[in-house]
Amino acid sequence: MIRIAIDGPSGSGKSTLAKAVARELGIIYVDTGALYRTVGYFAYANGKDPHNASEVETLLPNISIELKYENGLQRVILNGEDLGDKIRMPQMSMYASAVSSIPAVREFLLEMQKRMARENSVVMDGRDIGTVIIPDADLKIFLTASNETRANRRTLELQSKGICISFEEVLNDMIERDKQDKNRDIAPAIPADDAIIFDNSAMSVEDSVKEIVRLVNERK
Ligand code: C5P
Repeated sequence: MIRIAIDGPSGSGKSTLAKAVARELGIIYVDTGALYRTVGYFAYANGKDPHNASEVETLLPNISIELKYENGLQRVILNGEDLGDKIRMPQMSMYASAVSSIPAVREFLLEMQKRMARENSVVMDGRDIGTVIIPDADLKIFLTASNETRANRRTLELQSKGICISFEEVLNDMIERDKQDKNRDIAPAIPADDAIIFDNSAMSVEDSVKEIVRLVNERK
């Protein structure tokens, strides 16, 4: 069993790298942000204010989430419906960030994530993987990149999905979301004490993957 935690702010390249590292090692890639996006989406679909903890809490008993893996891709099934790219809409980023600061939401998603990491070799990405979900991970990476690099990546990613959004809008949303994620009381998005801080602003995806795989092999 090998368990790798990759945390970091939005657009730091977590999902691209985590996916590639998992493929290289032949293990599962778990995208935990998708879980918060799913709760955020459910709040949105039910017309709830994602900042209102008691409104969101009343929804939790009606949420059943299942993760499925096909060809290394994760699919999220909410109450039997495959959500596909619905949770990737820019608006869902803010919904996810808002609901993720509600303790009952984190508690609701906690055991599911811990179980995934207990039962499988995983590369898991998120904000609190190294601090809360897998505190004894074999390798903890905290990915960073400059604001411009991150916003640029997010803009291109969203545009490639046909979502029309400007660089400035992405940058402002990103800064706002990071502030919210870093400063929340519960599971703030900060590096674990034993995480390796990895700035990939000036690195290619291939070189970053090679470096992470090298760090994994060093620990085996
Ligand atoms: O990684 P992604 O951008 O999809 O995550 C969406 C939001 O979910 C983040 O802004 C963060 O607020 C929340 N999140 C979290 N803990 C995680 C993963 C995501 O709080 N482990």
